[in-house]
Amino acid sequence: MTDLLVTNVRPDAGQTADILIRGGRIAAIGANLPREAGVPVHDGRNAVAIAPFVEPHVHLDKILWGLPWHSINVPPSLRAMIDNEVEIRKNLRWDVEERAGNLMRQCVAMGSTHIRSHVDISTGYKLDNLHGVLKAWEKTKHAVGLELVAFPQIGLMIDPGTADLMEAALDEGASVIGGIDPANIDGDPKGHLDTIFGIADRKGAKIDIHLHERGELGLYELAMIAERTRVLGMQNRVIVSHAFCLGDGPADEVDAIIDTLAEAGIGIISAVPGEIGFPPMFELARRGVRCAVASDSLRDTWNPHGNGDMLERCWLLSYRSYCRTDEELVAAFDMGTKRGAALLDLEGYGLRAGCEGSLVLIEGENLAQILVDRPKRNLVVKRGRIVARDGAWVE
Ligand SMILES: [Zn+2]
Repeated sequence: MTDLLVTNVRPDAGQTADILIRGGRIAAIGANLPREAGVPVHDGRNAVAIAPFVEPHVHLDKILWGLPWHSINVPPSLRAMIDNEVEIRKNLRWDVEERAGNLMRQCVAMGSTHIRSHVDISTGYKLDNLHGVLKAWEKTKHAVGLELVAFPQIGLMIDPGTADLMEAALDEGASVIGGIDPANIDGDPKGHLDTIFGIADRKGAKIDIHLHERGELGLYELAMIAERTRVLGMQNRVIVSHAFCLGDGPADEVDAIIDTLAEAGIGIISAVPGEIGFPPMFELARRGVRCAVASDSLRDTWNPHGNGDMLERCWLLSYRSYCRTDEELVAAFDMGTKRGAALLDLEGYGLRAGCEGSLVLIEGENLAQILVDRPKRNLVVKRGRIVARDGAWVE
């Protein structure tokens, strides 16, 4: 934690001000703040200052970012892609620590200073992926917050022993229990959900479930998730990632389940997939469902696209949702910043005195134009320390 005075910036594209960070926290925001002995000064040259982007869903152990091009030649079925990844990772020359470190630095360079990552847990991998990611974080901890989801990518009920390993992961650095397609992967929605809710309840962990299952099956499982969340008093501690069923299910059923999600405090994360329906994010937000966008799988054995830039992901949401007015564009921007922070319960997030001294400087006129043009990030600060400059990680 350090001190820093950032001068001549426009917080949230408003009036010009200086931002004083002392001991890693924002001490003051105002015009012409006095210089203090020993406090370094950064001239923001009239850039817009925002609270950092939040990356609520990536896979740091899967990433091939920063490595030679990987050609994907596998049918796009979930099982084929799962099996393909396991085979490829057996012989990969780069270990999890190196690959996870590459992506964390990239995310920071793009302005994200908090990441939630899933890590694959299975009887084959054991806790190796968790340990690898945590080792990488030792070198990036000053620049990025990290929370880890113990994720049963291969399957839970079909890989006996996985549940015990996921529970053990919570004692070794993970704080969230994952899940995946309870019907299609495990063929046992009740068993799958009861297992992960049981672990989370015992250990006081949060839950984050990958739900790719479409239409009425997905909606049925959402209702099962909401019921367990209510019964166990886990409101605001459960997230469903993807939830394609909210984008392609029968309209009246989707409409009804949105109220159920709001009442049960279930959050929704979307990576805004290119080829299929995705949840109506702005409608969810309007009706009180906590939600945000995320990168998810990028530049790995699943997906050649992506670069860890949350501003780009917000733009994608805006583009696919036909946002046109400034108000709509800013609402898309919020999905990668303040809504992500609220969804992950990040304490002290924001640009106000008393908040964490973390910010991003971007040259632009206003947030709507920045969302559309996606300028590079001039500066990224984490708790008063400059961690990226001109779109590149600072060693
Ligand atoms: Zn994912």
